[in-house]
Amino acid sequence: MKLIFLGPPGAGKGTLAVKAVDILGIPHISTGAIFRQAIAAGSPLGLKVKAIIDAGKLVDDETTIELVRERLARDDAQKGYILDGFPRTIPQAETLAAFSAVDKVVNFDIPDSAVLERLGGRRVCRKCGYNFHTVFDKPAKEGTCDHCGGEVYTRDDDRPEAIQKRLEVYRAQTAPLIDFYRQKGLLLDVDARPAVDRVTENFKRSLGL
Ligand code: AMP
Repeated sequence: MKLIFLGPPGAGKGTLAVKAVDILGIPHISTGAIFRQAIAAGSPLGLKVKAIIDAGKLVDDETTIELVRERLARDDAQKGYILDGFPRTIPQAETLAAFSAVDKVVNFDIPDSAVLERLGGRRVCRKCGYNFHTVFDKPAKEGTCDHCGGEVYTRDDDRPEAIQKRLEVYRAQTAPLIDFYRQKGLLLDVDARPAVDRVTENFKRSLGL
């Protein structure tokens, strides 16, 4: 199954994706995580995108599309994938449609107030990318990932100024994709406000699982 997870930052796309990987047995492909790995490795791609990402802006379409094209060509993505954080613009969606046919687009429906609460408390494992929260999902040992022992940190783009910018960018450039995919009959709305287990149930139900 080829899925897109669409929704504002902090909607819980990455968190549900971890569960969905187990349920569906397909890879989770997060463009944001790929960029963060490139930044951590100090690669040319990382050097190119770091300032853009820290400011809460979008990386250019050409760079992002090329990255996804290469990732989707790998063996593990042939039977399906969960694209998390891509596409984020209409040109990205149009280009994706030209090289891969998605089955469904899961739209994470959530008000800004909930997004702000989640992003303000979000902490991420530098190694495996698992998302913790300072109130709702704390690691057992502060600063250390329960799943892989990696360092748990606050993303640079989860600072308040960058959060505001990311929400603006989402509304202006990414939210139009909701209508784009609804018109194609691909959209599945999922209420993303509850805790992850309930969202997982909503997700399974909406896919008829
Ligand atoms: P995310 O982890 O999905 O919140 O992404 C973190 C950041 O990576 C975003 O704020 C953008 O700067 C960049 N990014 C991730 N995916 C894309 C995309 N599809 N297009 C452009 N920039 C992206």
